[in-house]
Amino acid sequence: MKKIIMPMALLIFSLSTSFGQGAVALKSKIAQKAESLEAKVVTWRRDFHQNPELGNREFKTAEKIATHLRALGIEVKTGVGKTGVVGVLKGGKPGPVVALRADMDGLPVKERVDIPFASKATGEYNGQPVSIMHACGHDTHVAILMGTAEILASMKSELKGTVKFIFQPAEEGAPEGEEGGAALMIKEGVLENPKVDAIFGLHINSQTEIGKIKYRPGGTMASSDWFKIKIKGKQSHGAYPWSSIDPIVTASQVIMGLQTIVSRNAPVTESAAVVTVGQINGGVRSNIIPEEVNMNGTIRALDTGVQDMIHARISQIATNIAESAGATAEVSITRMCPVTYNDIPLTEKMIPTLDGVAGKENVSITAAVTGAEDFAFYQQKVPGFFFFLGGAPKGKSPAQTPAHHTPDFYIDEGGFVLGMKSMASLVVDYMEMNPVGKISVGK
Ligand SMILES: [Zn+2]
Ligand SMILES: [Zn+2]
Repeated sequence: MKKIIMPMALLIFSLSTSFGQGAVALKSKIAQKAESLEAKVVTWRRDFHQNPELGNREFKTAEKIATHLRALGIEVKTGVGKTGVVGVLKGGKPGPVVALRADMDGLPVKERVDIPFASKATGEYNGQPVSIMHACGHDTHVAILMGTAEILASMKSELKGTVKFIFQPAEEGAPEGEEGGAALMIKEGVLENPKVDAIFGLHINSQTEIGKIKYRPGGTMASSDWFKIKIKGKQSHGAYPWSSIDPIVTASQVIMGLQTIVSRNAPVTESAAVVTVGQINGGVRSNIIPEEVNMNGTIRALDTGVQDMIHARISQIATNIAESAGATAEVSITRMCPVTYNDIPLTEKMIPTLDGVAGKENVSITAAVTGAEDFAFYQQKVPGFFFFLGGAPKGKSPAQTPAHHTPDFYIDEGGFVLGMKSMASLVVDYMEMNPVGKISVGK
């Protein structure tokens, strides 16, 4: 994969703006301050790691964040989207509003890592007793953003705009029957008052070496939707299939039909997609052809047009195959999370900033991810850029480092300074490039 080629005019523009005098001075301050905050951020992270809380239950986490932000003189709102915390830092000079987001929730996973601050926390998830672990690294996101807030607050008078710090609950999904996550925070006005012009977010990655940053312009993480298909036929004795309309045979044909969506309809050279049937239920014993079969599945896409095409094709294939058998198909599709789409002009403008803080050789384009991330909801409303920060110990290959959401998930703390530098520098450079009244990115 080659790096995106930046048009000359854009390149000159970003060099002349992002590396202007003011920004250069601020960025050396950012670097110094980030180094000096490292120990503090590690301490915060260990505390969050040892005391993880599930989605929509991040009460203590939120309290600690709010206390810290208030101590920095940042205006704080709590209880946004259940347990969310929003901090507003008004710079000394006028300019755009830049949001930075960190997610706060842990997962129902039992930690198996041998570290002194391993989690022993337990709780309840959808009525079941569970162990809780920060098995996706959201503890590091919170600590890094608290550090970033401290850096930016220390240069408040020099900031050319406003920073909004969004600490979000329930990124991994709210408990059954509850609303939550980015969508609820947006519904409750997190992107308004003051209105956000651009948003940045990072995800620590347990399989990327510390010191490295990975990103992707455009579709970065997939949309995630659920579908249900109910095939209704006619029940009969298994020995007399001709008197049935067999929903099991029909469901099998539908499953095979669904395989043609990705293989025959999706533009595979441009944008990958996934259609998976993960559950199928029908029948009670060997010699009865049942009346109905139910299937559940997931759809992943990296482009909204492809996502819509898949939805339409699932309905068309299921309905028409069922009809050809004399059966009926009821299809329902639930949109869960949109495509995490990095605004292309914004991404192109901000990459020099990341090159500057990490070193050009450490910033690279990554393959798209078919997992989902609810940062996507913000990007539907405002131009946004989401990137991956290395969290794997130096010299370890991805094959040697446990994946996210597993009991052995482990993050090396050596990448936090780069995380803070990246977030704070993105803010300062964005403000420099978009002086008040002249916001040029993504509009
Ligand atoms: Zn996760
Ligand atoms: Zn995550």
